[in-house]
Amino acid sequence: MSSSVSNVHLVDHPLVQHKLTLMRKKDTTVVQFRQLTREMALLLAYEVTRDLPMTTTPIETPLAEMIAPTLAGKKLCLVSILRAGNGLLDGMLDLVPSARVGHVGIYRDPESLVAVEYYYKVPEDLSERLVIVVDPMLATGNSAVAAVSKLKEDGAQQIKFVCLLAAPEGIAQMQATHADVPIFTAAVDRKLNDHGYIVPGLGDAGDRLYGTK
Ligand code: URA
Repeated sequence: MSSSVSNVHLVDHPLVQHKLTLMRKKDTTVVQFRQLTREMALLLAYEVTRDLPMTTTPIETPLAEMIAPTLAGKKLCLVSILRAGNGLLDGMLDLVPSARVGHVGIYRDPESLVAVEYYYKVPEDLSERLVIVVDPMLATGNSAVAAVSKLKEDGAQQIKFVCLLAAPEGIAQMQATHADVPIFTAAVDRKLNDHGYIVPGLGDAGDRLYGTK
């Protein structure tokens, strides 16, 4: 279940909220953090795919013929903002294994916090697919805005954004530039600090996922 205000969907499921609290704790190990990210991704994928278009198809069960519900349209496309996005991507692929996958490499210049793109590879036919962009932290919003702009230039017409945590600044920035892109998040935190980190947050998601600090 998720509540939604102005295109922000707060996923308030008890399991999501509990797991997020475990992720925030500074003593949570890399192994635990990685596993929790995967579990959160599954739960968030469930929410973000809730309105996928459906059709029906005739099938045979061992007992009878029936007209059964099935997904309609082209396979969806998951786009990971490197590197922390890959943590969420892995969990989402567990649930939607046939999804196509794109990667956008963007780092934040530590001084200016401006988004700098260094890698971009996505499927060719974005315009026909639902594109779900994943990045655990919507902080300044600069990376998310840059990634979504690039995907739109490439033809993407229906885009959703999934994160674990969002800062009010990041939401404002996304809505100012890409108001048509719904944001799915497990929490909206208090603020950004001077280094662009979400407070209280959970620290650097990439470092915690990959044990690089
Ligand atoms: N990226 C992170 O990993 N953590 C933050 O708090 C902000 C951006």
